[in-house]
Amino acid sequence: MSNRQVITASPCGFCSGVRNALTLIEKVLTGSSGPVYVLRGLIHNSGVTADLKARGCIFADRVEEIPPGAETVFGAHGVPARVEAAARERGLRVTDASCPLVKQLQQAASRVGPEKELVLFGHRGHPELEGVLGHAGTEKVFVVESPAAVAELPGSLRHPVLLVQTTLSHVEAEKVKQALKNRFPGAETPGSICRASFLRQQAVRELAPKCDLFVVAGSAHSSNANRLREVAESCGVRAVLLDSPDEVTPELLRGVKTVGLSAAASTPESQIEALRRALLEK
Ligand code: SF4
Repeated sequence: MSNRQVITASPCGFCSGVRNALTLIEKVLTGSSGPVYVLRGLIHNSGVTADLKARGCIFADRVEEIPPGAETVFGAHGVPARVEAAARERGLRVTDASCPLVKQLQQAASRVGPEKELVLFGHRGHPELEGVLGHAGTEKVFVVESPAAVAELPGSLRHPVLLVQTTLSHVEAEKVKQALKNRFPGAETPGSICRASFLRQQAVRELAPKCDLFVVAGSAHSSNANRLREVAESCGVRAVLLDSPDEVTPELLRGVKTVGLSAAASTPESQIEALRRALLEK
């Protein structure tokens, strides 16, 4: 055992939306005799996905890949309205595991009427962003991926309304809000990241300056895991995202006395604990 210490940020790990999705899919798996299809992933964690596949879940990218009438689960990131409609047309038996906060964001997008412009701070290609865009009540939709991108919006916007993907950086979201207000003083800016993401980022910001190395437990395709790593890095600390204890190497830990540990909202407790042990023992 080394004399290294590992300090775990609090809170970290599962949020209520992820717990809700996992509870729902357990119910479906228990109650279903046939195959269970998961549309576009349940949550962004490789271990959880591998476990669900091993238990017979079939992951599909498009509704059209799912046989009519099949048991289907929508993931925590939500789906566009057209996908909900296509699932109904196909007679799929749907369990919607979208996080209630993502649902609220979709409803907020649907309330942005045709006379306004929806400006969404988010990452292109992320399923949550596609789901929210797919509920917009206006066709005038603009995605900004950074505060700097606000300068590239057309000057002709009349009533921009800013919404924010739930798992982005709080600091960046505030900068986007300010940049939009500066450019369009009448802009409405009700959007913000979700509270679970905010609290996890805040805990990393408090802990990271006390550490020689910061480790975030989570998968590379998890948006909130990447944001936690960036928050630690912004505190001037070397920060890495690790999906497995096997990725902990002696080189990573050379000269390190204090390691900060956090985890994405989609990272199971067992994975956090396995990493903690590896960081202490290797
Ligand atoms: S990170 Fe926030 S929005 Fe996403 S699933 Fe968790 S609680 Fe819901």
